[in-house]
Amino acid sequence: MSKPRIAFLGLGIMGSGMARRLLANEFPVTVFNRSPEKSKPFAKDGVPVAKSPRDAASQADVVISMLADDNAARTLWQGGSGAFAGVKPGTICIECSTVTVSFIREIAAIAKEKKCELLDCPVTGSKMHAAAGELNFLVGGEPAVLEKVRPVLAAMSKTITLLGPSGSGALVKLINNFVCGVQVAALAEGLAMIERSKLDHQKALEILTNGAPGSPLVKMVSARMMARDYTPNFLLKLMTKDLRYALEEGKKSSLDLETAAVALKKFQSAIDANLGDKDMAAIIETLRGR
Ligand code: NAP
Repeated sequence: MSKPRIAFLGLGIMGSGMARRLLANEFPVTVFNRSPEKSKPFAKDGVPVAKSPRDAASQADVVISMLADDNAARTLWQGGSGAFAGVKPGTICIECSTVTVSFIREIAAIAKEKKCELLDCPVTGSKMHAAAGELNFLVGGEPAVLEKVRPVLAAMSKTITLLGPSGSGALVKLINNFVCGVQVAALAEGLAMIERSKLDHQKALEILTNGAPGSPLVKMVSARMMARDYTPNFLLKLMTKDLRYALEEGKKSSLDLETAAVALKKFQSAIDANLGDKDMAAIIETLRGR
């Protein structure tokens, strides 16, 4: 059977690595990105670059979106030049961005009107996992639809987990990132305490990273904090967005996510200090130099 034609929308840190994996696995891919400069390396390699999401989707069997947030994804799926304006019936639409559950409902309803299928497939893993095809897909939607696109997702992933009906992937992703955001905010404070003490900084940090608090995230982010290396892997402004979305989602279950609210305040203060376009490890800079 020939491989499905793919429209890939969003060539940021994650999307560029994911699209490259699809190309490496010989899927016919057409790309679109709002800012043309991110499409240029693809065009140079002979990859078709569409003029709009609509044009990209009109040639595709599968449309994949990997964009910043609800607002970005809404812009590229909807409206006159949006992907939904171009899709043909039967197209499978895959939303990989970290977005709200209500946004997934919104686009699932449009997909249905268009006689298309939609899966929410946000990911865990970061820049290097996207580039290596080692992401974990958190899937919400119909099992039969997932089976149709499993080879497409497999080209970009280490694991694919179906979590339940539409919106389930988005919900688990927000819970996952809320817990990650709280960990990073707490780590920044812990490391700042170490740095202000007379302790051997490295030795003290190793107690944390090799002990109970030493999650893969704490290990990775603490190394960046120590090295003051804020090359973007996961932008600080995007974690701020995820904490905001998780808080909104919690309210819908009558849950006040108090630790998320505190972490959000810390991340917001880092944005106010112009650190939003740096890696989230830069949150520690709000606690240094006082
Ligand atoms: P990124 O590098 O900032 O890329 C964001 C993408 O969204 C770019 O293509 C950008 O286009 C586009 N975009 C932003 N605002 C837009 C708008 N208003 N209209 C149209 N396009 C817009 O972010 P990323 O790290 O790839 O993250 C993408 C998604 O994956 C986010 O939802 C993020 O939360 C999630 N995620 C990220 C990581 C990570 O480690 N980085 C891990 C898991 C999940 P331009 O190039 O024109 O700005």
